[in-house]
Amino acid sequence: MAKRFQGKVAIVTASTQGIGFGIAERLGLEGASVVVSSRKQKNVDEAVVKLKARGIEVIGVVCHVSNGQQRKNLINQTIEKFGKIDVVVSNAAANPSVDSILQTKESVLDKLWDINVKSSILLLQDAAPHLQKGSSVVLISSIAGYQPQSSMAMYGVTKTALLGLTKALAAEMAPDTRVNCVAPGFVPTHFAEYITSNDGVRQTIEQNTLLNRLGTTRDMAAAAAFLASDDASYITGETLVVAGGMPSRL
Ligand code: NAP
Repeated sequence: MAKRFQGKVAIVTASTQGIGFGIAERLGLEGASVVVSSRKQKNVDEAVVKLKARGIEVIGVVCHVSNGQQRKNLINQTIEKFGKIDVVVSNAAANPSVDSILQTKESVLDKLWDINVKSSILLLQDAAPHLQKGSSVVLISSIAGYQPQSSMAMYGVTKTALLGLTKALAAEMAPDTRVNCVAPGFVPTHFAEYITSNDGVRQTIEQNTLLNRLGTTRDMAAAAAFLASDDASYITGETLVVAGGMPSRL
């Protein structure tokens, strides 16, 4: 494997399983010192053990992304241990309801915006003073951001917002920091279990996918690593759809 992140320091939020873990692992295998995080200490500890077993330099910090103190602690611990930040992957999201938009409670709307959009902004506010020249931010959106489906409509809208946030932050953080986004298709993780574990739904998704399969965490990690790396050094403000050819037009 290439070592595009040798000497670099990467923070990945919500990275103790699923896509976030896959990204942390990929960056680490390519030489990055990695900071993994999620809400539960046990999950953080287990992820650290797994990554260390693969020879990756890693620390783990508990961070619920909507907790301001924990966000600051994530940045502080990173700086204390590694002294700088080169890559931030903002990966956390919630999808707490299958209600239609007009039926969604205000508290659920608040939670969706808080975790899926606002927390990325607030984390980057804390990270910005430590970001190196040539650093890179990757936001994780979703194919649902292009076509919000009925069972996840409001979630999809928050993911659409990330496409705009990517453009706006890219302009604000240029030229020293690039900001890009990955929009995954369906990947069978815990998060998507209610969709991908249903055989009928799964087959429908596969039929609507040119490549005729669901995505994998490795597919997403490869895309995020590309955008975060110097291979993408002339790319900023863009969203890479990694969805096997599912329709993705706004
Ligand atoms: P996942 O496998 O369920 O993993 C979720 C991870 O996030 C876990 O490590 C979890 O650990 C952590 N987490 C959950 N809530 C958190 C919070 N509030 N703060 C910090 N950490 C939190 O999920 P995934 O499928 O990989 O999803 C990752 C991202 O990909 C999300 O942004 C999602 O919208 C996006 N995405 C997923 C799919 C898909 O099909 N899977 C498709 C499109 C986009 P703890 O429980 O310890 O917190």
